[in-house]
Amino acid sequence: MSIIFPRTCASCGKTLPFNGKNNICNSCFDGFEKNKGLICKRCSAPLKDGGAHCYDCKDGKNIYFEVLKAPYVYQDKIKKVIKKFKYSDRTFLAADFACSMSKLIIKEEWCKDIDIIIPVPLHFIKQFRRGYNQSFLLAKHIGRYLNKPVCKDILFRKKNTKAQFGLGRQEREKNLENNFVLSDKYADFIKGKKVLLVDDVATTCTTINQCSKILKKSKAKKVYAVTIARAK
Ligand SMILES: [Zn+2]
Ligand SMILES: [Zn+2]
Repeated sequence: MSIIFPRTCASCGKTLPFNGKNNICNSCFDGFEKNKGLICKRCSAPLKDGGAHCYDCKDGKNIYFEVLKAPYVYQDKIKKVIKKFKYSDRTFLAADFACSMSKLIIKEEWCKDIDIIIPVPLHFIKQFRRGYNQSFLLAKHIGRYLNKPVCKDILFRKKNTKAQFGLGRQEREKNLENNFVLSDKYADFIKGKKVLLVDDVATTCTTINQCSKILKKSKAKKVYAVTIARAK
């Protein structure tokens, strides 16, 4: 089939080897800015002036996750590809992104202790319209890579909130307040578990933090998180 319909890189459009598995070519992957160097030890936010932690993580009072990792910086080229993944049915890109995410976290000491992987939920109306939850697709691939179970029926979104885009941190917190709920069915199951949350992009970490909060309230032992990219 690939002779009739050659596979092309989702970023630059160049033809890909017909027997390859990737949907993004190596040179595009290499061109995505890596999220490393001067970044917060906890939330991976870039730190202009160095140090170990960003302002929010320094006191860490209202932060409910242990650590958030993201292989890439959310900008330019990768932004376009993530948009295709989220809004244009390019669901196959989950495999490419999940591979980078898994490779990054598998090096972490805590990774082997993960009991369960939970994708950040979409509101059901949004998911119905889109046809898929991109975070669940990522989680499925990461689960396969790490050999850990994935459960998409633990967390739910109550409200179909307005887009977070363009909102500041406090507005985002307000927008998402009490928005996530844990299914009663899993209230006991989650106790004492070490959870890996999966989402596509971390902009201010509000979504990840709100999900972590509800999981910790439900007595999850620890919550870790991974996203494709971290906003600057
Ligand atoms: Zn390319
Ligand atoms: Zn931080």
